[in-house]
Amino acid sequence: MSIKLGCIADDFTGATDLANNLVRAGMSAVQTIGVPGGSLRADADAVVVALKTRSLPADEAVAQSLAALAWLRAQGAEQIYFKYCSTFDSTPQGNIGPVTDALMARLGTDFTIATPAFPDNKRTVFKGYLFVGDVLLNESGMQHHPLTPMTDPNLLRVLAAQTRRKVGLIDHAVVARGSAAIRERIAALRAEGVEIAIVDAVSNDDLLVLGPALKGMPLVTAGSGVAIGLPANWGLAPGSAKAPARVAGAQAVVAGSCSAATNGQVAAFIASGRPALALDPLRIAAGEDVAGEALAWARPLLASGPVLLYSTAAPDSVRQTQGALGAERAGALIEAEIARIARGLVELGVRQLIVAGGETSGAVVQALGLEQIAIGEQIDPGVPWCSGHAAAVDADISIALKSGNFGATDFFLKAFAQG
Ligand code: ADP
Repeated sequence: MSIKLGCIADDFTGATDLANNLVRAGMSAVQTIGVPGGSLRADADAVVVALKTRSLPADEAVAQSLAALAWLRAQGAEQIYFKYCSTFDSTPQGNIGPVTDALMARLGTDFTIATPAFPDNKRTVFKGYLFVGDVLLNESGMQHHPLTPMTDPNLLRVLAAQTRRKVGLIDHAVVARGSAAIRERIAALRAEGVEIAIVDAVSNDDLLVLGPALKGMPLVTAGSGVAIGLPANWGLAPGSAKAPARVAGAQAVVAGSCSAATNGQVAAFIASGRPALALDPLRIAAGEDVAGEALAWARPLLASGPVLLYSTAAPDSVRQTQGALGAERAGALIEAEIARIARGLVELGVRQLIVAGGETSGAVVQALGLEQIAIGEQIDPGVPWCSGHAAAVDADISIALKSGNFGATDFFLKAFAQG
């Protein structure tokens, strides 16, 4: 079993986003949580190793990325894709530049591209400047990001500050002339000593034109958008990926996200008349057996349809809880309790589980012992059904990991109704 495309993602939900784009463009894909100890379990065209390296010190991010590279090469990966955020989240210290430098050196290559363009999510690059919707990156709110404030929208400058390699541009005039023109421009840039080229792209058509020009390039670095143009290089077309079937069994949602979209989804589920149980953070903090009570509540209900267990709350209530417990402690306590509940639900026979919240998903996946998940059908943009083996419970399950602000209001019931 040898894979075609080996991907290294610098965060967890970004990995799912990339895997989802690959599947939609025709590749079967597996996502691993960190670098696996053993070899790949399922057959797949692409593997996305999900790391959490975006905000680590650069040397740690490099070390983890190189470990992922070694594992992917051992699985036979023909091309490597380094995935970062479509808002190019980084600082002058890294980690996009240092990780790119290290991957290029290890792969023995002297040229790659870098483009965060993701037109489906309104991220476009023109003349090397990154736009989010109608405004430049540094006017998009990203200039206030707590960890990676983006105050310069010029990607050539941003990247040049992080790499010792020469950075150049493949601008839109070239992209508009097609794949052959991009290849010529790459040859010209190489002759000038450029080793990393920012690529303009303002539409999916641009990314589909870029794809063939990247055929055979040992390393591609990008957001998730560039992925839509790559499967065709292996003769794969949209619809050709075999998606794993949904596992049959009881259905449940656990929600630890307090984002606006999740609040709306929880309200819609409750309004539908389905059973829902609120989890009280203060009782969790007081050491009461909230998970045990929740599982006793759910047990008799599971035979008659999906149930929801949630700590999701409105901003006022979250602030109150954080005031009483501290934001970090409240977060960690609730994540751990929801992870216990998720594990208990699978022990009770739940085989279709939706988890709402990025951090919450991390805790649940860990508690279930899920190391490799195969990407299935999309529910809403960025959120597919996945399936994998929950080693902690020794059960195969289907699971959907929903980033807090993703999904339509009817996401939960729509997901279960699908298929
Ligand atoms: P999102 O994807 O929406 O950011 P996350 O799961 O990543 O969701 O983050 C939500 C955080 O809020 C988690 O750490 C979670 O434990 C915490 N949390 C959940 N419910 C509450 C609540 N009622 N009060 C305070 N914090 C909460």
